[in-house]
Amino acid sequence: ARLDRLDRTETTCGYCAVGCRFELYSDDERVLGVRATDPDAAPANDFSTCVKGKFGYGFIERDDRLKTPLIREGDGFREASWDEALDVVAAELEGIRRDHGADAISCFASSKCTNEEDYLMEKFARTVLGTKNIDNCARLCHSSTVAALLETVGYGAMSNSIEDVANADCYLFSGTNTTESHPVLATKVKRNVRDGADLVVVDPRKVGIAEHADQYLRSKPGYDTAWMNGMARHIIERDLHDAAFVEEHVRDFDALKRKVEPFTSAEVERLTDIPAGELTAAAERIATADSVVFGWAMGLTQHSHGTNNVRAMANLALLTGNVGKPDAGLSPFRGHNNVQGGGGDMGTLPNVLPGYQDVTDPEVLDTFEEAWGVRPPEEIGLTVPETFEAIHDGDVRGLYVMGENPALSEPDIGHANKALEETDFLVVQDLFMTETAEHADVVLPAAAFAEKSGTFTNTERRVQRVGKALDPPGEARQDWEILQSLANRIDHDGRRWDYETPTEIFEELTDVTPIYAGMSHERIETEGGLQWPCPDADHPGTRFLYEDGFNFSDGMARFVPADMGEPGELPTETYPLTLTTGRVLYHFHTGTLTRRVEAITDHVPESFVEIHPETAGTLGIEGGDTVRVESERGHIDVRAKVTERPGKGVVFVPMHFADGAVNTLTGERYDPTSGIPEYKVASVRIERI
Ligand code: SF4
Repeated sequence: ARLDRLDRTETTCGYCAVGCRFELYSDDERVLGVRATDPDAAPANDFSTCVKGKFGYGFIERDDRLKTPLIREGDGFREASWDEALDVVAAELEGIRRDHGADAISCFASSKCTNEEDYLMEKFARTVLGTKNIDNCARLCHSSTVAALLETVGYGAMSNSIEDVANADCYLFSGTNTTESHPVLATKVKRNVRDGADLVVVDPRKVGIAEHADQYLRSKPGYDTAWMNGMARHIIERDLHDAAFVEEHVRDFDALKRKVEPFTSAEVERLTDIPAGELTAAAERIATADSVVFGWAMGLTQHSHGTNNVRAMANLALLTGNVGKPDAGLSPFRGHNNVQGGGGDMGTLPNVLPGYQDVTDPEVLDTFEEAWGVRPPEEIGLTVPETFEAIHDGDVRGLYVMGENPALSEPDIGHANKALEETDFLVVQDLFMTETAEHADVVLPAAAFAEKSGTFTNTERRVQRVGKALDPPGEARQDWEILQSLANRIDHDGRRWDYETPTEIFEELTDVTPIYAGMSHERIETEGGLQWPCPDADHPGTRFLYEDGFNFSDGMARFVPADMGEPGELPTETYPLTLTTGRVLYHFHTGTLTRRVEAITDHVPESFVEIHPETAGTLGIEGGDTVRVESERGHIDVRAKVTERPGKGVVFVPMHFADGAVNTLTGERYDPTSGIPEYKVASVRIERI
């Protein structure tokens, strides 16, 4: 009743990509409560939120929010006016462009910002600065997914909807800690499993969703392609594949057969420790189900062979005829609230313009030149990891980071932080003095999700409205306003930006993004969001992709045979344990928001390491001990949790903390196709201190 006397603003959660809709209850200064909206207006969450959505908004009113621009002075910062700070940023970036060329500047967009803001960041990089270098943290999470799905089925996105995930006959989940990373979605899966659906989970760590599985297969970290190829081999050998579907819709079946031939169940057992009988039973379970959802996340993608892992998963889905029909499909569960839209659809990647249009295609560039009045650079730019190398090499001199925290999220952060120090000019735009902002020359204060309007695109390609409940604190501004002010200070052929609202920006971006062409803010609001592709104003949006063929000129999908890769780092005498990393329910990513919310930190205040009881016993470690976890790159001191969740010889550390930062330990090995770092396997040792 007390909430009903407050202002109500409908919006979309700013944490994960499930994209729960809820109402923010606020007075003039603060958010005071959250209530899920009615299911008709919230198809993704049906009246639910998780603990982060419901109680994780306390960061908005924190005293340590950035409220004024800051300029470096010695070892610290001094407050500055917007005019002064933006003049400095414009002059420094123009100076680098003049002296070293536009490609000596890199920009990182944000998977937390709105589509409208990321569209402008991409346009700012390519047309105002004229650099080819734009990337974002999607590089670090699902770039392997995008690469593999573009090759196999044609769109680098979830093929289906949360509705399909909720109603599948069977699931094959791997490398997804769904219960903790996508809690509301996990609830739907658990409900369906309780009602009779089958669930197979394959993972080195017995994650929460595995507690509900009909079959849980514990695999050795880093050997996932082997068990998926082994499943494909068994399905083909037993003639359980969907031969009619394969014949009609998929190319290169013979190449797949040849590739998986060596992966007998005995060989898979040797490589992965998965018992042969368990593997074949799981393969038969998914091959005989009416509809199967293939779900994965970073546990499959963040490997030096992450693209091959996703190719192998896509091959299984195609082999069993589970793409392009209801209640089935390919479900890469995305991380950030807007990593699908702001991190991909809006062209914030070095190889594509908005709508995944090829940056090297002259016809595409003609279209953008006509729309923007400036021709974007026609070369593929640098990825996030390549940018850090280019800084070390002196080829990149200026870095603009909007709402990202690479000082904690990069692998081997000792090396990454050195690069941030070496950058001639670093500008960071964020809510807080993050670990990355500590290195900046200029820090620009930005608005939180509750202080801005626009759209986010969730994991099922649904574009939803973001509503503004509050004004940003002090002099903080919405990211699109900051970008516009800066664009108008930097010479770009005498042009000016004069957007007045995010609606105006959205209208422009739909003109150049064919998969969004039929959308408008008004339609999104009245129709409970719209799923792309939505090519015209009469199109209802697309619940699942590929019903009428795959996204290639011949309409056929492709089997892309997956080579088995080994982890880039194997246990040694000095570092005999395998470290894997991931998330916990209460925190989010590098923790810049959740580490500032008491309701969250009361539950999980600090980092920890999970160790199997037998491993702990061998090392003389008990639960609660402080231990040193060390790799050849550095060490962290954290509390030990003794649990059977990781297998023997495997340890787990969450990714959310600055004290006990797990990326002190991870190494710089990358998938050659996607450029994703291998966060999921590193060799370490542990000792009690
Ligand atoms: Fe927000 Fe994700 Fe939780 Fe939904 S499940 S409330 S989108 S964090």
